Amino acid sequence: MTRPALAIIGNGMATARLLDELAARGGLTKFAVTVFGEEPHGAYNRILLNRVLTGGAVDEITLKPRAWYAERGVQFVPGVAVTRLSHAAQRLWTSDGREHFFDTAVFATGSTARVPDVEGLRRPDGTMKRGAFAYRTAADVQQMRYHARPGMRAAVVGGGLLGLEAAKGLTDLGLSVTVVHLFDVLMNRQVDALGGQFLRRAIERLGITVRTSVSTKAVLGDKRVEGLSFGGETLPADMVVFSSGIKPRVDLARESDVPCNAGILVDNQLRTQLTRLYAVGECAEHDRTVYGTVQPIYEQCKVLADVLTGADPSAAYRGSKVYTKLKVAGVEVASMGRIDADRTGDESVQVIEEARGVYRKLVVRDNRLVGAVLVGDASAAAGLVQLFDDGSPLPPNRLDVLASGEAIPGGGGSDPEVCNCHHVRTSALVGAIRSGCDTLPKLSDQTRAGTGCGSCRGQLANLILQNAPSTCRKE
Ligand SMILES: Cc1cc2nc3c(=O)[nH]c(=O)nc-3n(C[C@H](O)[C@H](O)[C@H](O)COP(=O)(O)OP(=O)(O)OC[C@H]3O[C@@H](n4cnc5c(N)ncnc54)[C@H](O)[C@@H]3O)c2cc1C
Repeated sequence: MTRPALAIIGNGMATARLLDELAARGGLTKFAVTVFGEEPHGAYNRILLNRVLTGGAVDEITLKPRAWYAERGVQFVPGVAVTRLSHAAQRLWTSDGREHFFDTAVFATGSTARVPDVEGLRRPDGTMKRGAFAYRTAADVQQMRYHARPGMRAAVVGGGLLGLEAAKGLTDLGLSVTVVHLFDVLMNRQVDALGGQFLRRAIERLGITVRTSVSTKAVLGDKRVEGLSFGGETLPADMVVFSSGIKPRVDLARESDVPCNAGILVDNQLRTQLTRLYAVGECAEHDRTVYGTVQPIYEQCKVLADVLTGADPSAAYRGSKVYTKLKVAGVEVASMGRIDADRTGDESVQVIEEARGVYRKLVVRDNRLVGAVLVGDASAAAGLVQLFDDGSPLPPNRLDVLASGEAIPGGGGSDPEVCNCHHVRTSALVGAIRSGCDTLPKLSDQTRAGTGCGSCRGQLANLILQNAPSTCRKE
């Protein structure tokens, strides 16, 4: 019997996860799945792009090598973009001139880097001047690496997570880097003003110059980048990297008459407003929100797989409580919910350790955690995330929670979540280690822990040391 054709447009982190979720529900045998990926690689972990910038191969961050698709009967079409889609004809067309039928299609087209329209950036044909780069794909970082030489001066426009990562990568390559940020606080969406000062000091300690409250007006240089102008003041630079936000890729959907706002509009089952068409990941807009980190996207993939395979036809995605735990340029940062006590009665609890460069803050409302910011030491994050998620009452001594995040009797503290990207708890990890996953790759393969942002890998290594039978002390 012919299987229904499921077309997945885009082969990024959402698709990698959706394929796993489909596989877990028998979806790869139920459907004839075709994945169209504009990039030439198997899906890779975009979060780890800096490894490629600093000399690694794309293979090192690959989530699904080409063989993965073939071994599971998934038709993978790499290096080919879907250029047109007809809902009525149930067909799509690709950049290699082919036509494909589908019963169901999923948009997983992600985002592009938002590059501001500054004077002098583009050539007459619309491409960016030599020495100017976006920071989104493996190709972007390979081109940056090819251009970069030790001793060059680089400007990074955007002091958010991506900008700081790019700055660290370029510093590691021996460049002299200045981060130029429009706002007065670095990572201003995740970190409050005081946390921003701690983060700034940590970044500056890496030898990176930080300029805040600065707006880039023009890129200088005739044929290639020679600097930036802030209107009146200039900054000499041999290359400039733009990492000032992202823009969901909705063009194909919009041209196919799929209703879009900032992202492709989806309901609680990730359905677009046209039958048989779904959207997931950074291109999707659910309940007026477009998410830009992987944890909500993974939650969406689970629901979509339940719905597509019929494993749980009533599965519903109701939005995500966003939290971030990262190692930004080597500095631990965690953030969730509100970063400021902005309502009467809100309580803010802050702990500052100047010498260690550690800043921790809780925002408490009605005795419950509604936000937290950690800079320099995010070890309390796992416990805090659970308190934030389940809304348990906080103990009278908030400092206990700030120290470890684990001071709640009967709360998640007894079995804290270690990998926040994949929601893997200590007990599951210890179980896997004791049953033979005694190396980091084995443990990650088995549990997925450490394969998201990677910031928990140190904790995983410690758990292996403490629990692997081969490393346990023999009596
Ligand atoms: C440098 C960097 C660091 C990051 N760090 C973190 C982090 O620490 N933590 C975190 O949670 N998130 C982080 N993110 C964000 C995270 O990578 C994204 O949320 C995630 O990749 C989104 O997945 P996606 O599949 O929706 O989009 P993408 O991963 O962008 O994948 C979309 C894919 O679709 C392809 N495509 C688009 N249109 C078409 C078409 N018409 N035909 C065929 N293919 C098409 C694109 O080429 C792309 O390969 C980071 C991102 C970057 C760039």
